[in-house]
Amino acid sequence: MIPFSPPRIDDKICNEVVAALKSGWITTGPRTKLFEKKITEYCGNKNALCLNSATAGLEVMLRWFGVKEGDEVIIPAYTYSATANVVIHVGAKPVFVDINANDFNISISEIEKAITSKTKVIMPVDFGGLTCDYDEINELVVKHKNKFVASDNENQKKLGRILILSDSAHSFGAVYKGKKAGSLTDVSVFSFHAVKNLTTAEGGAIALNLPLPFDNQLVYNQLCVSTLHGQNKDALAKTQKGNWRYDIVEAGYKHNMTDLTAAIGLVELERYENDTLVKRKHIINKYIELLKNDARLEFPVMKTKDKESCYHLFPLRIKNVTEQQRDDIMKHIFDADVSVNVHFLPLPGMSFYKNLGYKAEDYKVTCDNSSREISLPVFYDLTDEQIKTVVNAVVESVNKVVK
Ligand SMILES: *Cc1c(COP(=O)(O)O)cnc(C)c1O
Repeated sequence: MIPFSPPRIDDKICNEVVAALKSGWITTGPRTKLFEKKITEYCGNKNALCLNSATAGLEVMLRWFGVKEGDEVIIPAYTYSATANVVIHVGAKPVFVDINANDFNISISEIEKAITSKTKVIMPVDFGGLTCDYDEINELVVKHKNKFVASDNENQKKLGRILILSDSAHSFGAVYKGKKAGSLTDVSVFSFHAVKNLTTAEGGAIALNLPLPFDNQLVYNQLCVSTLHGQNKDALAKTQKGNWRYDIVEAGYKHNMTDLTAAIGLVELERYENDTLVKRKHIINKYIELLKNDARLEFPVMKTKDKESCYHLFPLRIKNVTEQQRDDIMKHIFDADVSVNVHFLPLPGMSFYKNLGYKAEDYKVTCDNSSREISLPVFYDLTDEQIKTVVNAVVESVNKVVK
C-alpha cells in the first residue's frame, strides 16, 4: 500500500531526539528557543513562538486580541475544522465565506461582503501551501478601518482595525512576491503536525509580524506567559541559581512545545529549503507531467507570477463528476493499494456547524471543489516508481467510472 503522507523518520531525526533526551532537558528549553530563532530567520518575520499545535496558536491569538461573544471572525468554508473550532472556543461567531474556484483560497470579494461592525479578525487559510492574496487582504482591513469598533481590549485599541490572523498550517516555506509565509501579514500560525510539510510530530508556531506601535518582542514575552500557566518565568529560567521564586499573573494555558519535538523540527528546518521542498516540487511536477494530457483532470495552481506553493498538497479535481462518482473513483484507487484523501469536506455542512444553522449549499464553489477533489500522496520518500503506480491507479479508476 502506498501511504498518503508518512513523516520522514531517518537516523538524523532519531539521533537528534536521542541527543535531546540525553541532554537531560526534555521540556521547553534551548532547542525550542533555537528552533524559534531559526523559524524567524527563515520566514523573515519579527518573532516566533513555538507551541504544541497550530490550533493552540490560533486560539491564543484570538484571546490575545480579546475576541469574545458577540464578535465575528471571517474564515473560508473550505478548511479544516480547527480554523472554525477555535472561534467557537472563544465564544465568537465563525462567518464562513466562499473560496476562489481556481486556487481554493478564500475569496477577497466574499470577505469584503462579510465585513460588519462586529468583525474582529479575518483568518485566511493558505490552502495546500499556496498563499492567499495578502496585499489585497492587508488593504481591505485598512479600507474598512472605519467599520472597526474596538472593545476595551488594549490590543484592539492599539491596532485600530481588523486583525489578520493567517491559518498558515499548510504554507511554511510558501513564497508571495519574494517574501515567505509568516512575514506577509499581522500574524501567521504554522502547523508542525505529523502530516504537514515540516513536522515535529505535533507542534505549531505563531509567527508575529505586527505593525508599529506593537513591540513584537514584548508580545512574544506576553504570549510565553499566557501559554505557560500565566507563570512569569519558564522552567529553564527557574532552574537558574537563586531564581526559584515565581508569580502567576493570569490564568494561563498550557501550550508549550517540548525540546524533544523541537529536536525533530531543527533537523527538518535545516534540510527544508534545499531538500524537502525540492523533493516535494519534483513529485508534484511529475504528477502534472504524467497526467497533463488527460482532459478529464483539472490541476491545482502551484505557481503564478507572484506566488509559489510549498507543495504541501496535490489537490487534483475530476471534471464533470458527481460526488458519488468521485467517491467511486477513490474506492478504485484504494483497491489499487494507493492511499488518497479529500481536502476538505465543506465545514458548514459538518454536523456541529449544521446544527448551528450553517448550510453547506450556501457555499457553491466550496461544494463544487470539494465534491470533485482527490488529494494524491506527497511525501519525501515517495519514489518515481511509486508516482507511476499512483498515476496508473488514478487513470484506470477514472476510466472505470467516467465513460
Ligand atoms: C492541520 C491544520 C490545522 C491544525 O493544525 P494542528 O497543528 O494539528 O493544530 C489547522 N488548519 C488547517 C488548515 C490544517 O490543515
